[in-house]
Amino acid sequence: MATTLFRNARILTSTRTLERGWLLANGRAIASFGEGDAPDFEGASIIDSAGSVLLPGFIDVHVHGAVDHDSMDATPYAVRAMARFYARHGVTSFLVTTWTDTDTRIQRALDNAVACVGPQEEGATVLGVHLEGPYINAEKRGAQREQDVRWADPVEALRYLDTGIIRLLSLAPEFEANHWLITECVKRGITVSVAHTASTYAHMQKAVSLGLTHSTHTYNAMMPLTHRDPGTVGAVMTMPQIRCELIADNIHVHPVAMNVLYRAKGVEGVILITDAVRVAGLPDGEYTLDDRPVVVKDGAVRLPDGTLAGSTLTMERGLKNFIAATGESLDRLWPTSSLNAARAAHVADRKGSIEAGKDADLVLLNADLEVQLTMAQGRIIYRSGV
Ligand SMILES: [Zn+2]
Repeated sequence: MATTLFRNARILTSTRTLERGWLLANGRAIASFGEGDAPDFEGASIIDSAGSVLLPGFIDVHVHGAVDHDSMDATPYAVRAMARFYARHGVTSFLVTTWTDTDTRIQRALDNAVACVGPQEEGATVLGVHLEGPYINAEKRGAQREQDVRWADPVEALRYLDTGIIRLLSLAPEFEANHWLITECVKRGITVSVAHTASTYAHMQKAVSLGLTHSTHTYNAMMPLTHRDPGTVGAVMTMPQIRCELIADNIHVHPVAMNVLYRAKGVEGVILITDAVRVAGLPDGEYTLDDRPVVVKDGAVRLPDGTLAGSTLTMERGLKNFIAATGESLDRLWPTSSLNAARAAHVADRKGSIEAGKDADLVLLNADLEVQLTMAQGRIIYRSGV
């Protein structure tokens, strides 16, 4: 069983910051931690982390692809390649995220995720699936495929749920035809999110009463907040039941709007996501995404008509942007990149914070918030410069 000792790190534990701390990972779990000089643990490999900060590994609950692979490829090879790329960016676990497509292709992606779930070699762990669409509103589809948008058909949707792999499901709750699915997901412990939607405040009141608790890439592809009509945005900002995903890439959302969301929701109400697609990790240029041409320029991914088609964001950059947008410290904001996502995915009993007994899912960042080391369940899955 591998044993690793981190020493001389600032450590952001669930209850307080250890200014010069040590942490022992034994097997897959966090064994113990403390302040000051580390005790002598025989046989432990030592990582000296002077000047660095150790925090819970990032959890990305909304991510489609990277390095020329995505979830809809539906191959173990694609998932492994994605998992390795995310590990380099501090991610220790993620939800394989599907998008609006034909039944056959969605089913294939789900079956592949069932086959892949769990730890990946030198990569982040697959927790399960985020089913984004196809039960959305075509008018707010963004880059989702219009011809495959539909209402939730019980035969099809129950077959998806019966795979047991879905942890988060994004739909448009303004359609009564989708209401049964909210209820069914809640019964099965699957988090339901509002997404690609024209929902009004009243629609959202109904959806929350049915058990919806999550907002997919808040601000994007939903009704905006205005002073006479609070829209979807006004609803998710003010309803305490809802946690709000945010793409903090300074492209999908203006930094001031990020700060507004933070002021409304507080630190427990925001979940940083990347919504990264298969061009993440590739240089600027012209690519094909889901059979359609896209242009990647300065990190923005767009269809020919200018519509944003996912991102090339990575979690450590999102966190850095969010810190800059809010003026808050990492010590305060760390739950937005781990714990809140763990709660949404129902894995907070073992992931998302630094506590003895929880999984040793950790990321070590330098002063510029660059990833130096990523550890998932006690295994080092990425290391650079320490
Ligand atoms: Zn997405």
